[in-house]
Amino acid sequence: MTDTFLSGRTALVTGSTSGIGLAIACSLAEAGARIAVNGLGDQAQVDAALDAVRKAGSEDARHFNADLRDPDAIAAMMAGIDAWSPIDVLVNNAGIQHTASLAEMPVGKWNDIIAINLSAAFHTMRAALPGMAARGYGRVVNIASVHGLVASKEKAPYVAAKHGIVGLSKVAALEYAAAGSRDSGGVTVNCICPGWVETPLIEPQIEARRNGGSRDDGVRALVAEKQPSLRMTLPAEIGALAAWLCRREAHNVTGASFPVDGGWTTQ
Ligand code: NAD
Repeated sequence: MTDTFLSGRTALVTGSTSGIGLAIACSLAEAGARIAVNGLGDQAQVDAALDAVRKAGSEDARHFNADLRDPDAIAAMMAGIDAWSPIDVLVNNAGIQHTASLAEMPVGKWNDIIAINLSAAFHTMRAALPGMAARGYGRVVNIASVHGLVASKEKAPYVAAKHGIVGLSKVAALEYAAAGSRDSGGVTVNCICPGWVETPLIEPQIEARRNGGSRDDGVRALVAEKQPSLRMTLPAEIGALAAWLCRREAHNVTGASFPVDGGWTTQ
């Protein structure tokens, strides 16, 4: 029988129309949570995400449209979700990537990556954490990256944003550490730091390493550069860790950053 330990709880997963976010939304839905889906995409992609979340077990799921580059749109989204059902679980997952040397990085890409991958999490946490503390239970799971812990060339805004979200999460973890109780579950803030995960985000980096070969050749070349396990992580495996962090018994796991990277950051 499925353990629906999130029954009666509401989760917002940003960027859940695709990839890791959609997989996390499905894991939380399987545990019984109501899901606020957020993310870009056409109506068919949004409908497919809502359908997947409902099939996974969510009794109620809605799409909340906000372009996370826009703080006013984020505020409107947070107010809309609060009116629907206050947020118990906040997963800041939405993110974009652009690779170029620092000197050649377009200023617009810097601004967008900092806005989506870092500032959006500040805006959503600022809105959601006080309510979580008042109710004695809350979970913030921020999807950082190995690039929140170490750097790579040609990813200046991405590495800056991901290091930033690791720091931001530590501050929030400290400020809310004493909220709630062991019985209520407390309020925790953690980061998951994946290495390579098989999603659309990394397709351009696979493509760049094909050298005329197959997609598999590109995958092998990409993984071999950094990830000693030589295998990519599946989005659902990140979903399983996110769901575990939401359990009551994880009440004292806070301010941590969990690498899921096949040994990348151990080197
Ligand atoms: P993805 O491209 O499959 O999904 C990104 C999601 O973010 C989509 O739902 C998209 O609509 C949403 N999004 C993008 N811009 C947005 C905006 N302006 N407003 C609202 N939503 C927006 O990517 P993914 O690989 O699933 O990445 C998810 C997170 O995981 C990102 O933060 C990424 O940095 C992180 N991550 C991914 C990998 C990997 O290997 N795929 C590794 C480490 C970390």
